Amino acid sequence: MPVSNLKLTTIEVKRSFFRNLANIQGQFPALASSHDYYMALSYTVRDMLMARWVSTASEYTEKHSRTVAYLSAEFLMGPHLAINLLNLQVTDVVRQAMSELGLNLDELIKEEPEPGLGNGGLGRLAACFLDSMATLEIPSVGYGIRYEFGIFEQIIADGWQVEKTDKWLMKGNPWEIVRPDWAVEVKFGGYTERYEAENGTFIVHWVPGWQVKGVPYDTPILGYKNNTANTLRLWQAVAPESFNFSRFNEGDYYGAVEEKVASENLTKVLYPNDGPLQGKQLRLQQQYFFVSCSLQDMLRIMKTQKVHLDHFHEKFAVQLNDTHPAVAIAELMRLLIDEHKLEWDISWRVTQRTFSYTNHTLLPEALECWSIDLFGRLLPRLLEIIYEINDRFLEQIRPQCLLDSELIARMSLLGEQGDRQILRMAHLACVGSHAINGVAALHTELLKTDVLADFYSFWPQKFSNKTNGVTPRRWIALSNPRLSRVITEVIGDQWLSDLSQLKKLETKANNSTFQEKWYQAKLLNKHDFALILHDRTGVSVDPDSIFDVQVKRIHEYKRQHLNVLYIIALYQRLKSDPQFDIHPRTFIFAGKAAPGYHLAKLIIKLINSVGDMLNRDPTTRDKLKVVFLPNFNVSNGQLIYPVADLSEQISTAGKEASGTGNMKFAMNGALTIGTLDGANIEIREEVGAENFFLFGNTAEQVKQLSNSGYSPQEYYQNDSILKEAIDLIRSGFFSHGDPETFRDLTNNLIYSDPFQVLADFNAYYQCQEEVDAVYRDKSRWCRMSILNSARSGKFSSDRTISEYCQDIWKVEPVQIQTPDIDPFKLG
Ligand SMILES: *Cc1c(COP(=O)(O)O)cnc(C)c1O
Repeated sequence: MPVSNLKLTTIEVKRSFFRNLANIQGQFPALASSHDYYMALSYTVRDMLMARWVSTASEYTEKHSRTVAYLSAEFLMGPHLAINLLNLQVTDVVRQAMSELGLNLDELIKEEPEPGLGNGGLGRLAACFLDSMATLEIPSVGYGIRYEFGIFEQIIADGWQVEKTDKWLMKGNPWEIVRPDWAVEVKFGGYTERYEAENGTFIVHWVPGWQVKGVPYDTPILGYKNNTANTLRLWQAVAPESFNFSRFNEGDYYGAVEEKVASENLTKVLYPNDGPLQGKQLRLQQQYFFVSCSLQDMLRIMKTQKVHLDHFHEKFAVQLNDTHPAVAIAELMRLLIDEHKLEWDISWRVTQRTFSYTNHTLLPEALECWSIDLFGRLLPRLLEIIYEINDRFLEQIRPQCLLDSELIARMSLLGEQGDRQILRMAHLACVGSHAINGVAALHTELLKTDVLADFYSFWPQKFSNKTNGVTPRRWIALSNPRLSRVITEVIGDQWLSDLSQLKKLETKANNSTFQEKWYQAKLLNKHDFALILHDRTGVSVDPDSIFDVQVKRIHEYKRQHLNVLYIIALYQRLKSDPQFDIHPRTFIFAGKAAPGYHLAKLIIKLINSVGDMLNRDPTTRDKLKVVFLPNFNVSNGQLIYPVADLSEQISTAGKEASGTGNMKFAMNGALTIGTLDGANIEIREEVGAENFFLFGNTAEQVKQLSNSGYSPQEYYQNDSILKEAIDLIRSGFFSHGDPETFRDLTNNLIYSDPFQVLADFNAYYQCQEEVDAVYRDKSRWCRMSILNSARSGKFSSDRTISEYCQDIWKVEPVQIQTPDIDPFKLG
């Protein structure tokens, strides 16, 4: 890998900085705001990377490189400035230059609004993958949607979540370049017509009801210490040029503008549900819009390279991040057949070889379905194509149906929900792809035996596992500089691009000097974070206490309420027995709830209400603190993962597909308390069972319990600790005496909880006692912490991406040579 060498001096940085402050911000120091300085610095860094970006595109074009197109409705990128500095290896010189101007780099970095174009794990995975593909020099484009309003900003008012709109673009975005020349048009609605062509074949013409224009906005994605700058291409919807010209001429100015506004609504807002949405027409429009734009863009690229379209699959490997972009399968068929006159059979072979599909959920109710009625009204031509795909597919499986008469109904792309006809997007994705993967070993096994069992029995060779990973550049180097220094002092800095090298730390795990350095790095992180927590929540916490952290979307299956029940039980024990001795603990929560998810919002209120009571109680407050940090996002994640002593990964076994938060914690030296779910299983295998706090029912036991009729009342009646904890909530103790506030939540736990919180309570309680005991042996804890980090190499997204490249995409790295245009020499 050629090491990039931007040999910058502080003089050059300062000159470029002032030039951008004047030329782009139109500002001078006496009046400049922190934001002006942030913008000037960002343009300075952009100037440093433009030559690489152009060289990368030019090299890919010239070499006709096979390219990964990663289609995702979400990209949760996190701020760009700091990661770009790290990847360019110019953090120190820029910090120095800013300091010479009396500016603090860390403060400027905080000025960047977060591009929150995702809900949680799925969107963040896409971001980690782009980082790893650039670092591994894989030609790739991330295709998605440029939402004007990303995930809402969460504030907490009187303990409740309140949503505020996220206006990340309000002050301009220095990291994107708009490419109006490559805009495309997307059809919606209308009807189809058939003509018989001269050669006797039928030609279908889709007469749309309306069209929307897609304009691409490109953001550079740098590789670490190389010359690669790949692209994230996000589509924005605008009204087409020709828009309602006739109406305009008739003088209906308002009518014309209204329809223009309607087109532009398409990419206005990200749906804040971390799961599927049913029946939302705008959501289906968003999906088809970005998929059609992206495929048309790929066809444009093929045309510039003069490659015949029946070689599409040789030029592009298209990955579907869940079923959100699965309509791409029908859209590529439409483009090849209707627009480019290829035959069905050739088009289908090309399509199947092009696509691969990643499944992200096991919850059967979370599998994406669209009503045929809605789909057909919005995308009439695509529905016809899907019917044809389905007919041919069912014909193919018909011989098997002699043995299993219900097979056709089970596998069909069409199904029924009540009296509605529905389209099953996961089935379309399976039929149209040559590769299907789950995101952790257990998840993939459950796909094969359960959710997609029929498809597995048909095409076992299509299935493989690709355990998720996260980028160590953002999640260790950037977010935890103190720990990074401790690591690099001992093993050098190669771990940043080869995380398996962390193994070399194992020899130091018993070394008391090293243990002390390791401990001090974490402790200093905790001190810094305590100040931030106090600033944002008013709660003061003790950095010497155990930081016990659960941060992730708020969901019943993730079981934040199991954690809260334990906290209440601990509180009651401390109250009733003043001699009861525990190491002081700080329970830290963060996470957003979908705005319409009543129980999730109630869990947030409960956490805050419990915190309010406990943090003020003089008999327990030195031992127990509960804090909810508002607005969990990538920036806040970067602050939180490095301070955790204990990582809470307590989902109901079999429900969390992988998890990636669990990996970020382990890398940063937190020990995990967790169930045998998702990637927890593989983390435990890697770090060793003796360095992991395991509890709870297995996926198998969860399933059996639910089949035999889970009755939570028995646990409630038979476990006095559990009963007293729930009864305290029910008494109104945490709600100013009002027993109604949390009624829906406690009723759910006692009478109808599909996530079996009460079934795991006792095991969790016992396991937490063990955590307390182990923490008292500081040397032992440090050793375990070092080993968790040392053995987390598998969970680098570099490893995940290498596996996708080898097994699914069959794509090779392309090294970008040092760009010869140096912008600083031209001026
Ligand atoms: C990593 C991450 C997630 C995923 O967390 P899980 O614990 O795996 O659910 C969600 N949101 C953000 C901001 C993240 O960084």
